[in-house]
Order: sequence, then structure tokens, then C-alpha cells
Amino acid sequence: MTSKENPDAHMITVEDAQRIILERACPTPIEQVPTWLAAGRPLAEDVATDIDLAPFANSAMDGYAVRAQDLAAAEAGAPVELEVIGHEAAGHVFEGAVEPGTTVRIMTGAPVPEGADAVVKYEIVEVLEGDGNEGSRVCFAAPARVGDNIREAGLEAKRGEVVMHAGEVVTAAGAGLLANAGKATVAVHRAPRIGIVSLGTELVDAGTVPARGQIRDVNAPALMAAARDAGAEATFYGIAPDDEERICELVRRAAAECDLVVTSGGASAGDYDYVTALVEREGEVQFDRISMRPGKAVTFGMLGNTPFFGLSGNPAGAFIGFELFVRPAVRKMMGHAELFRPVQTARVAHDVKKRQERRFYNRARVERRSDTGELEVTQAPTQNSAMLVDLHRGNCLLVMPDGVGGAKAGDEVSVLRYDLPEGAVL
Ligand code: AMP
Ligand code: MG
Repeated sequence: MTSKENPDAHMITVEDAQRIILERACPTPIEQVPTWLAAGRPLAEDVATDIDLAPFANSAMDGYAVRAQDLAAAEAGAPVELEVIGHEAAGHVFEGAVEPGTTVRIMTGAPVPEGADAVVKYEIVEVLEGDGNEGSRVCFAAPARVGDNIREAGLEAKRGEVVMHAGEVVTAAGAGLLANAGKATVAVHRAPRIGIVSLGTELVDAGTVPARGQIRDVNAPALMAAARDAGAEATFYGIAPDDEERICELVRRAAAECDLVVTSGGASAGDYDYVTALVEREGEVQFDRISMRPGKAVTFGMLGNTPFFGLSGNPAGAFIGFELFVRPAVRKMMGHAELFRPVQTARVAHDVKKRQERRFYNRARVERRSDTGELEVTQAPTQNSAMLVDLHRGNCLLVMPDGVGGAKAGDEVSVLRYDLPEGAVL
């Protein structure tokens, strides 16, 4: 597979790479989690409610439950007087019925008593005698319509009705809806476990001051955070120096314990880069070059049933590689239908040069101009792939299509919004 003469000879497109990856990303096993912990995740089952929602007709107001007919003739000059025969707070039930000429004092959420067909809010009822509760006399200066201030039983859903379908992403509000349907826990796909390994003899951790020739491992924390943000559970397996045995040991362990393995570094065609060879030996390589910049050196393959991503060592390349290839795979494994970040059209604020065939993902920031109301994208002044500061401050990747040819200031270009969730309505 590797051709030393021209390693770029078998570069594939971003879209082909994504297709090959997604074909191999299988849903993780299903687990039960408390409804509130399911928020942000797609349901793995249809949920039907075991009761009507609401289970009984109840009052939407604090007021008086009446028979609308009794108040048909009520007006300011000729108010109608009713006798209060009971009182109901939420959780209490008035066992009698509202007969003609009577009313029941009712609180929000309490069941509408038999015989009543409307609720008149407290504020517009005058108490003539008593404290407004049982034994009092109250009067009404306007008619009520049947159904006024009553929340009907089964309005939100009827018993047996599916209130949330498999694949729907649970929202915070949805967690409440699931509880209402009788679910304390729901079925979702287990968060994919990602094993992260950093490759490079030059790497030291954040707590170490690098000696000359060493650099700090910035990819591990960036990829761990990106994994968590994607909904996965990340485990760091450590830094492996450029030594085939040590790399092999960490990668094997990660592959045995995780659903996905992600390495960074050691993926280009340098003298000490072992990743592709390792995957070739231990499993199967699907591709090892993608026609893009930054981060063209992406090795993807299978270690048994575990997808393996060997991302570029350059921090910007590793981060963008995760965004474009690992994140959609994680989402597919979780059962999401929306796999890709939203792409928008914006006007570019300046000329953009492009003298290479590869697709460019330039670090940029898009804003809405206050004068024209249009989206305008400005790319970071340097596109140095060793730097993360522009990805941190930016919010999008300016996508310069495959082929030679730049853009002029004012041209419409595509921007991939990594600050917005997949499926966002723009
Ligand atoms: P490589 O893919 O090993 O050729 O690495 C490409 C560049 O990225 C080199 O300059 C490496 O030093 C750098 N690099 C590799 N891994 C990391 C890392 N985890 N953190 C920061 N820089 C890295
Ligand atoms: Mg290296």
C-alpha cells in the first residue's frame, strides 16, 4: 500500500474517507440510563406513555370550578351568585359534584370536579360572604365558556401513544416528557470509548518544562476534550516514543479496551513514522492519505473490530482530522442521524490564495456584519498547523474546494461551523 516514491499517489477525497469510515462505525451496545442523563443522546427505543398526559382534566388557574351554563346570563349589572361547596388543592380530590348553583374553589393542577366544565380565575371573582372556601358565597360578573382554564386529559398524549421515537435526541424538556410517560430510565447507545495515544519521542506532558528538542503534548488534551464534546468517553493511554514496540503495546491495549483508537503523530512519511505499518501488520489499512490541508496524513484502518484513526501530529491537523473523521464516527456509533457540522455560505473579507489541488480547511472566524447583516468570514493571518490559538479563537473552517484557484474579497465561500451542533438550523 505504501509507495515510498510518491506517498500521495493514493490520496483519497474527504468524502470518500468519511464514507469508508462511516461504513465501519457500528452502533455501540444499548444501556439504560436515567432520563436526565440521556439528554443530548439519541433514544435507542420508542417510548410510549403508560397513562394519558395529563392523566385527568385539571385546572390551569387558581379559581372556581363552575358549570358554564350557570354563568350564561352573568354581566356587570346582573352578577350571578354561587355557593362554594368545596375546596381542592393540587393532590387533593373533591369527591362530590358541582351541581347547579354551586362552585368549588380549585387550585392550579387540581382535578376538575365532576359537573364543572370551566374554571374562572380567582382574581375576577368577588367573595360576598365567608373566606372564599366551603360555605362562602361568591359572585361572577361575566359568563364563562365551556373549557375555560381547563387542561384536558390526554391533551399532550393518549395512553399507549409514542411520545418519543428511537433516534430522536433527548432534550432537557424531553427528559421531563419521558418521566411523565413513566420512564425513570431509557435505552440509549453506550458512549463510545475512545483510547487516545500520543506518538513522538519529542513529547512531554504539560507539567514538564521541555528540554531543547522536546515539545509539550498538546494533542492529547485537545483530542480528549473533543472526544468528550462529541459524546464519547475518552481514556488517555499515554505518550509513546517513536519505538515500534512501545507504540504497538499502547495501541494494542487501547484497541482491546476501547471502541475506537485515535493516535496523533507518527503518521506522515518520515523516517520514524510507524503507524501505517503497524496497522497493516496488526489489522487492515483502508487509506493513509487524504487530499486535504492541514492533516493529510490520516491513517484509517481496522484493528479487529476496532476502528483505528492515526491522525497527523500537527495540532491543527489532528484537531481538524478529529472534527472531520472521528466525530462523525462517534455520532454514528451513538445512533445520531445528523453526523456532520452545519456548513454555511459567507462572504470572504479578503483574497484567499490557493496554489495546491488539495482541499483546504483554513482556520477562520465568521461574524454577521452589523451594517449589511451578511455573514463575513475572515481567516487567521497565519495558517500554521503547529498552532491551536486560531482554532480556539475561531468558530469555523473556511473550506476552499479541491483544485487550484483562490477566492477574491467579497466572494461567497463555504464555512464549516465547528461551534454549532450537527443539525443546527441556520
Ligand atoms: P508527525 O506526524 O509525528 O510527523 O508530527 C508532525 C508534527 O507534529 C511534528 O512537529 C511533531 O513534533 C508535532 N506533534 C506530534 N505530536 C504532537 C503532540 N501530541 N503535541 C504537539 N505536537 C505534536
Ligand atoms: Mg513524529
